[in-house]
Parts: sequence; structure tokens; C-alpha cells
Amino acid sequence: MKSQSFSKHIELNKIKITDPFWLSKTELVRKEVIPYQYEALHDRIDGADKSYAIENFAKASKTAEALKKGETVPVYPADKWCYDDNNAHPDAFHGWVFQDSDVYKWLEAVAYSLSNQPDSELEEKADKIIDLVCSAQLENGYLDTLYIINNRDEVFSNLQDYHELYCFGHLAEAAVAYYEATGKRKLLNAACRFADLICNTFGEDKIKGYGGHEIAEMALVKLFDITDKTEYLKTAEFFINERGKKPYYYDVVRGRKTVNDNYHYNQAHCEPRNQHEAVGHAVRGVYLYSGMADVAKRCGDDGLYSACKNIAENIINKKMYITGGIGSTADGEAFSFDYDLPNDLAYAETCASIGFIFFARRMLEIEPNAAIASAAERALYNTVLSGMAADGKSFFYANPLEVLPEASHKDSRKRHAKPIRQKWFGCACCPPNLARLISSIGEYCFTENSDTLFIHQYIGCKAQTENAQIKIISSYAENGKVEIEITPRKKIILAIRIPDWCNSFSVDLPYVIKNGYAYFEISKKTILRAEFEMKPKLIKCSNLVRENAGKVAVMRGPFVYCAEEADNGKNLQLLRISKNTAFVCDGNALIADGFREKEDSSLYSEWSEAEETDVKIKLIPYYQWGNRGENEMSVYIRI
Ligand SMILES: [Zn+2]
Repeated sequence: MKSQSFSKHIELNKIKITDPFWLSKTELVRKEVIPYQYEALHDRIDGADKSYAIENFAKASKTAEALKKGETVPVYPADKWCYDDNNAHPDAFHGWVFQDSDVYKWLEAVAYSLSNQPDSELEEKADKIIDLVCSAQLENGYLDTLYIINNRDEVFSNLQDYHELYCFGHLAEAAVAYYEATGKRKLLNAACRFADLICNTFGEDKIKGYGGHEIAEMALVKLFDITDKTEYLKTAEFFINERGKKPYYYDVVRGRKTVNDNYHYNQAHCEPRNQHEAVGHAVRGVYLYSGMADVAKRCGDDGLYSACKNIAENIINKKMYITGGIGSTADGEAFSFDYDLPNDLAYAETCASIGFIFFARRMLEIEPNAAIASAAERALYNTVLSGMAADGKSFFYANPLEVLPEASHKDSRKRHAKPIRQKWFGCACCPPNLARLISSIGEYCFTENSDTLFIHQYIGCKAQTENAQIKIISSYAENGKVEIEITPRKKIILAIRIPDWCNSFSVDLPYVIKNGYAYFEISKKTILRAEFEMKPKLIKCSNLVRENAGKVAVMRGPFVYCAEEADNGKNLQLLRISKNTAFVCDGNALIADGFREKEDSSLYSEWSEAEETDVKIKLIPYYQWGNRGENEMSVYIRI
């Protein structure tokens, strides 16, 4: 690892997004998703699963108040993964053990949104929620409503399953974002008090445990970056180095022998620095890998970085869907084995692709890597955007590449593959995660070091960086064209990523290509125009992916396309796309030449050439599917 090549992302308050494509998404989040989620957190959405999240904070606040006065407070069991009216006392904690995190993710999204667009009414609402959150904090800094309400004596007793360190991580991320957006320290102070308690509780001569669901690692690094308190970085490093050590902490604490060495689910099967393949629960995985990259960079840890590089390569080359989805199996919401990428059973959780983008940004801060930036783009324009409906009011949790509504309804193995987006989930990790990523999209565009400014994602914006003022006018999503106006403060290098999907590109200035980036010397105000060829293409998948043998997908620029029943009728498996097809653009859609096989209801018959008719196949961007009611969808089509 060469520290002189380290770079940093540009802070959100230095970037103003102007890109029409992305502005429409950030505005949807601001005007629809954030207000909707506010109502959902307060359990005011008819027909949606109850969240209980705000209710829990109100209960915890009362408990904290009573404890301060020295009153006796009741104890309820803290022994379940999810609590509702059927299994919990009305005054006890309700919802999933990680319910607090939804409030924090909402606050984080609000913070980013306020950086983009000040909104005093929204800020007031957030301030009130922050007051409520802080009023629930115990005097020693502890802040997790499950244990505050139900049993203070059992805090940190089940790190493997009960998500206190996970909720802490989201609290810290929200707190840093809110401080950076508004300058207000109240939530940051609360997060630091909880972080101090965690640093005093975990470590070499203390509890040698680590969270079952990672995130505390990267969150502690964020707190370190903002406070300079080395304990935070040390504890993040401790959590990473302790994970996977034998005997397993989770076994030791439960007084059991390791019978079945199956800790892959939370990436604790071996020490992270010895991990070279992405395994286990996909969201946990990418959150851990993000923390590993953060710590590797700040501690100059080559071993840890080398593990990150191998894991990133494994994901990109063997475990990522063409849509940027990761975690192909619903069994444990997890990474599966290499080249196991089934289309209809795909899990591909929205949060996992979001987490991959977090990981990618951290890797790009260590060194530029066009393959990683391109994979982040793949995730962003396809699986992440597909997570949200066109009206911002419903969401996908899983993002399969092939859906048959009847199968989703009748086959329990495919129940996760919803044929239509859901309003809200009891386990609502994805919608607020989407809101926070889309509102902070500017953070993923650039990184810079003392002499080079890198453009990783082409999103129209105005930005003030340490080295330059930059203005990007982008119609990249539409036609692959970008105009970059750069005014350097000194002589600098500009490096722009060449997208992996373009066969050719043109730039109107001399450049040198290195590792997938075009490098330019910039010494005065310069306008650079780049055009990346954006012809629709047939894309072949490795023939080691069994489901895709004999099929192709269609891409245009960063977008993957799919066929929907609404345009092509039922039984999409009968379609065959012509290998010589010319594509015609029809608005956002593509029209391809193809054939449709005649339906044959006899289950078995002697083989004969199929009867086919010529058809035009209409394809739409994958992220737009499922906006016209329940219907079949398929990304891969026979060729
Ligand atoms: Zn999720």
C-alpha cells in the first residue's frame, strides 16, 4: 500500500448535485421517501407492518428518566429476535432487535438531504427525534432501546444475535452526518458517549467480543476521523482482529465447545486478514469489508488491504450479478459459491449492493481501481435504483433477475422474490438505506490527493475540492456525454474512469491511460468533453453460470435491461433475441428483433424444430421494472 496515493472523498457540503437524472432521485427521496418513512417510524401508515421504532425510544426515555430518579423499573425478557403484541408485554420493547437503526438511518438520510437542500421544517422534525433519542441514553452512555426497556443487566450479553453494536454503528454514522450537515453536536455527543462506553468495555484486557452484524468498525472510524480520538480507531481495529480468533468468543461466552465450525454467516470463520473470499450474510460481509478497508488505510495494514483486494476481486469476478446484485441465496441472505447466480432464486438484497458501494469508495480511497468503480456503478444504476418504485412509495428488499408472480405466491423458495414492491417492511433495513445512499450520492463521485483529482462516477454537479473547482455537466445516463470544467488552484492531474461497458470513447484533450483511468495534466481553467460510446449490446455471462447458458442480457451504458410481461406477453421464456438484432431506442426502452416460440402444452413429445414467429422484443431498464402492477420479468433471454 502506498500512502502517497491515498485519496479522500469530497465532503457532501462541498458538492451540489445538478444532474437531472440524479436530481430526480434525490428529490424523490426528499419529497417522498423521507416524509413517508417518518410516518412509518411513527406507525402511521395504514396497511404497513408496524415499526415500533419511535415508540421504543419513548419507552426507553421513560425508563432512563425513572432510573435517574432511582426508581425501580420492570424487567422483561430480552431473548427474542422479534417482539410483537403476541409475545411481549405491552410496556416492553417491540419490533426487531435492530429497530433503533431505522431511526438512525432516517436521521442520516435527513442529514444528507439537508446538505443538498436546506429545509427548516424537516430539520425541526429531526431535532425533535434527536431529543427523544438522547433522552433515552443511560448515564453511563449506553443507548440501545431493547436492553434499556427490557433488561439493563443483560447489556452486551448476546453480541452474536442482538445487534447492539450494529445499532451503535448506525447511531454514529447518523451523528457524524448530522453534525457535518447542520453543525449541531447533540447526537454526535451522544454517539461519542456510547462509543466511549464501548471502548472501555471491549479490548485486550476487557471483553474480547465483536458484533454479530458488522458496521461498528466503519462507524468507529468515522468518529475517529471527526474527533481524532485514537481509542475509536483502536477499537475498530480490535473488533476486526478479534473476529474469527479461536476459541470463538461466541462459544466461550456461552460455555459451549465449538462443535460445528460454522461462523461463515457473520464472517467469523477465520480472522478477516486471512479471508480471501466473500462469504456469509452479504450485508454483514460488505459492512465488514468496508471497515477493514478503513482500518487498513489508517493503520497502514498491508495484510488487511490484501484481504480486501482479494475479496473485492472474488465478488466482482465470481459472485456479482450483472445488475450489481450480491448475496445470491436467500438461505442466510448470503453469498453462495463461485458462479452460483440463479436468476429466479436470487436474493440480491438492496442493502448488500449499497454496502458494496460503501466498500468500493473506501477501496478507491486507497488506490484507484477502475474494476471496483465500474462494479459500484453497476450496482448503483441497477440493483440500488431498482430498490425504489418510480413514485418513491414502495421498495424491493430482494432483487431477482427473473420473476414469475405465480411462483412468488405459491413456491416458498421464491417468496422473497416479490412481483411488486412493498410499502414498508417490519424488517425495514432497505428503504432507509436507499434513502441515505441516494441523498449522499455526491460522496461517491470523486476522490483526491495532493496532486490528483479522480472522477469515479459521472454525476452532474458543482464541487469545491482542495485542488480545484469543478463543474460537471452530464448526460451520461442518457447518452454517455460529459463536459468537465475544471479550474485548478495549482498544476494538477485529473484522472477520469473509463467505464467498462464502452468499446470506444473520445476526449478532446491529450491523455495517458493507466489502470482504466485517463490522466490529464491541468494547469489552467480547462473544459474537457468526453463521450463514452453507448450502443446497446448483447452481454454473455460466463458459461459456468448454469442458468444463463444459451442466453444473453442486454446493456446500454451502465443500464441492464429486462423484458416485462406488460410489453411482451406472458411466458417470457418463449422469447429468443436475434443475434444480429439492430436495436431501436424508444424513449427509455429498447426494441430488439427476435422470435417467439409457439406455446406447446404437451409435456413431452418427440423433438422437432420449434415453430416461431418474428416479434419485436421491448426491453426496459431493469431498475424501472415492476412499476406497472404484478407481471413476469426476465433479464436474461435466449439467443
Ligand atoms: Zn436491507
